[in-house]
Amino acid sequence: MTGGKPVVTFGPMPSATRPSVYIETYGCQMNASDSELMLGALAASGYRAVAQPDGADVILVNTCAIRDHAEQRVLGRLGELKRHMGRDTVLGVTGCMAQRLGSALLERAPHVSLVIGPDGYRGLPALVDQARTGTRSVSAGFDPAEHYEDIRPRRAAGVKAWIPVQRGCDYRCTYCIVPTTRGPERSRRLPDVVREVQEIAGQGMTEIVLLGQTVNSYHDGTHDFADLLRAAGAVPGIRRVRFTSPHPNDFSDRVLDAMAATAAVCEHVHLPMQSGSTRTLRRMLRRYSREEYLACAGRLRAAVPGLALTTDVIVGFPGETADDFAETLSAVEAAGFDDAYTFRFSPRPGTAATRMPESEMVPDDVAQDRLHRLIETVRRGARGRNLALLGTSHEVLVEKAARRGDAVQARTRDFKTVLLPASEAVIGGYYTATLTGTTGSTFTGTVAPASEGRAPRFVPAVPLARSRAPLPLAAAG
Ligand code: SF4
Repeated sequence: MTGGKPVVTFGPMPSATRPSVYIETYGCQMNASDSELMLGALAASGYRAVAQPDGADVILVNTCAIRDHAEQRVLGRLGELKRHMGRDTVLGVTGCMAQRLGSALLERAPHVSLVIGPDGYRGLPALVDQARTGTRSVSAGFDPAEHYEDIRPRRAAGVKAWIPVQRGCDYRCTYCIVPTTRGPERSRRLPDVVREVQEIAGQGMTEIVLLGQTVNSYHDGTHDFADLLRAAGAVPGIRRVRFTSPHPNDFSDRVLDAMAATAAVCEHVHLPMQSGSTRTLRRMLRRYSREEYLACAGRLRAAVPGLALTTDVIVGFPGETADDFAETLSAVEAAGFDDAYTFRFSPRPGTAATRMPESEMVPDDVAQDRLHRLIETVRRGARGRNLALLGTSHEVLVEKAARRGDAVQARTRDFKTVLLPASEAVIGGYYTATLTGTTGSTFTGTVAPASEGRAPRFVPAVPLARSRAPLPLAAAG
């Protein structure tokens, strides 16, 4: 659904008499972005967002199905939410778990009246209206044409915006439920994405994060991800472009060229590895070998000097031997990750991995031990790299107040978190910070050397030149 339709605009701003909606979001950034979309659809129908479930006319739980643990948490939470519901409150479940379980959720939780999968949010206001008259419903179909172009998301306040550019996934990794819950891959039209980036820049936000399940396989029929990076990075006012999550197989030379040439593209890539063993990767159907993954990491580093790499790793996949796991540890060391999300394999009904022989399942205690060893290895590597950065200076964007009252949290271009002693007045600004301390994962810093008796000075950092000189794209195995 692209072009042609009017963009939905908001009516007069909230009055306490408008019906209220509370959304609780679980899972990935795509889900957080979908929650913003749902709020946009409901705001266009007169709803106002509230921050607490008590007294809300509509409560939505936007769910994740990627791990069994996430689903159990949601089921527990649905029980708790009963306490916050009034007689006429509508409770709905949306997202991947809603798509996966469909009407079974209505049977399991009788106080739930709506179940809506990721392609059904357009119908949300109408289904809520129906639910308020007592009709319970399920909307769990796929719509390959659905991009929600005409619904303006209601973004959370902040200094950056997440922009979905692609929905669904055409890979079939054997552990993953996403292709079942989010359907086939489809990309938004580049001009539609650029229009949204321009709107965001017009609102004063300077950083965008392009979202997709395999974001670098983006293709709208005419433009690929390289075109998208260049176009988004050229929008006046946009100073940082990030993207998540790419697939290692979709980093074409064109994409690497675009990353190298577009100054706004940040020096950080989250590159899911999942395993360092070619044998396990084959069984996961990741479609690359250990060597190909490490070569991809090398190509990225050659294209973008100073690049930080983070990753996802699963341990305890069916059939993973001690040798396979040792290869994962050595690949983590060889890739030199700055951080990693680490997981124990969680079987998801409906995925190919659940059909692997029982005899291949890795015992819980073995998987748990491997997870601990993996975390240790990741932390040790990250700590070493971070210690080496002490004393260096970096451009930071101040994102928000830190939990500690007298500090703000800022982010370097290569995605390091830096705590700076400052008031909230500097949020949204770019500064040059010197890294003065590290916990191993996050940093403390100062913005300019404090002269005796004076507080550190916050001086805005100068933007980078618009174009980074293209670099040789030699593979570095
Ligand atoms: S690439 Fe694999 S892990 Fe990622 S969403 Fe698609 S199927 Fe899941």
